[in-house]
Amino acid sequence: MLSIAIDGPAGAGKSSIAKMVARKMGITYVDTGAMYRAVALSCILNSIPMEDEASIAMHVPSVIIEIRYDNGEQRVILNGEDVSGRIRDEEVGKGASAVARFSAVRTRLVELQRELAEKQDVIMDGRDIGTVVLPNAGCKIFLTASSKVRAKRRFLELKEKGEECDIDEIERDIIARDEQDMNREISPLKQADDAILLDTSDMTIDEVVNRVMEIAAVRNNA
Ligand code: C5P
Repeated sequence: MLSIAIDGPAGAGKSSIAKMVARKMGITYVDTGAMYRAVALSCILNSIPMEDEASIAMHVPSVIIEIRYDNGEQRVILNGEDVSGRIRDEEVGKGASAVARFSAVRTRLVELQRELAEKQDVIMDGRDIGTVVLPNAGCKIFLTASSKVRAKRRFLELKEKGEECDIDEIERDIIARDEQDMNREISPLKQADDAILLDTSDMTIDEVVNRVMEIAAVRNNA
């Protein structure tokens, strides 16, 4: 099976890029952040504090997460309910970074991610795809951009959705989330030794998509 792993910090454009590459290459896009978000949402709905590792570990086995595809779009189903929209809230994103520190959560989700990559060609994005989830992926890319650029992209995205937001606050949140993701003990956000670094600060989306496809073509034929 063909696997393309895309890792990088929050707001680097991983999901937009991966979605476009998936469409062009006719492969499946797997958004692993959405799974951590679904666990965080489940904790919020069950009033479990994000710091309470023991309660979260007890809660995880009862959380049923299914991934479905609707016209090529990934949908996340939590206990039978489509939560694809709800998991995009900022509160859920922060919660995802908090619950992603715990091994009970990671073990469960990594298993689901590997199952998806075993049965189809995928482009999978996250924080630990090249290092932990798919260490044998044929193509690994570490996508990044400056925190200013990433904050601006997020700001424009939220503005388009009609949400009130402050660009400096978004940048502070992004930096805090990266810190938490890079410094956790289990599977921290890190570039794999054999990943290609792509700084997209001064690139357009089309340029990044083309570059990823070029890298994938070379790597997958190697
Ligand atoms: O990519 P997204 O912003 O949806 O991810 C939400 C959070 O989930 C990240 O901040 C990170 O802490 C966690 N995550 C992770 N490993 C992944 C994907 C996401 O730890 N493979």
